[in-house]
Amino acid sequence: MDVQTCLEKLKAAGVLAFATVDETGGPQIRSISAIHYAPDQMVFFTARGKAFCEELQKDGRVQVLGSPSDQEMIRLSARVTPIPDAEQLTWIDRIFEEMPFLWDIYPGDTRVQAGIVFAIRNADIEYMSLASKPIVREHFTLGEGNHSHWGYVIHPEKCIGCDRCLDVCPQNCISAGEPYAIRQNHCLHCGNCVSVCPVGAIERG
Ligand code: SF4
Ligand code: SF4
Repeated sequence: MDVQTCLEKLKAAGVLAFATVDETGGPQIRSISAIHYAPDQMVFFTARGKAFCEELQKDGRVQVLGSPSDQEMIRLSARVTPIPDAEQLTWIDRIFEEMPFLWDIYPGDTRVQAGIVFAIRNADIEYMSLASKPIVREHFTLGEGNHSHWGYVIHPEKCIGCDRCLDVCPQNCISAGEPYAIRQNHCLHCGNCVSVCPVGAIERG
């Protein structure tokens, strides 16, 4: 797996969920399919009058979620950037050319007044597949990204080697030894190991 494969899988998924934060701090989520994919960015279309657009302009943070199959998930954490005004119509027309159904929604020139396009150029990408055992979790960066992912870690100075975490791990992704360690690429983040550790040696890191 790599960044480009993740983008190709998102493109194949078609409709993606875009999560934003509204003015009250509450979560909002929308389905977006009017997206152009390039190796270095995703450019998407929405309408200026939507609350979604206002949230993107005020806050800019977005999480994008796609499921290319029933056992795969790809999530982007990013900040969006409006395309410069001089380039807006070019990008709108490009997206409409790729997705002709948009002409039925915004006939004639209505797209010009209503439409606005944003770009995602820097993102932290998480890929997760439940299709194998252990599961696979990988992180990638588009552009500069934000490197905000976390995982459970075992602090070797606290661990007493009791093996309780090994017994409750559904993915067998904890390696015993010097030191005990969690294989991050296979961890479900279920928290079982944290619950049973008698000395508090496992924390989010
Ligand atoms: S969080 Fe769950 S899957 Fe990950 S190491 Fe702990 S028990 Fe295993
Ligand atoms: S349960 Fe805690 S102390 Fe026991 S082996 Fe796992 S990390 Fe170490």
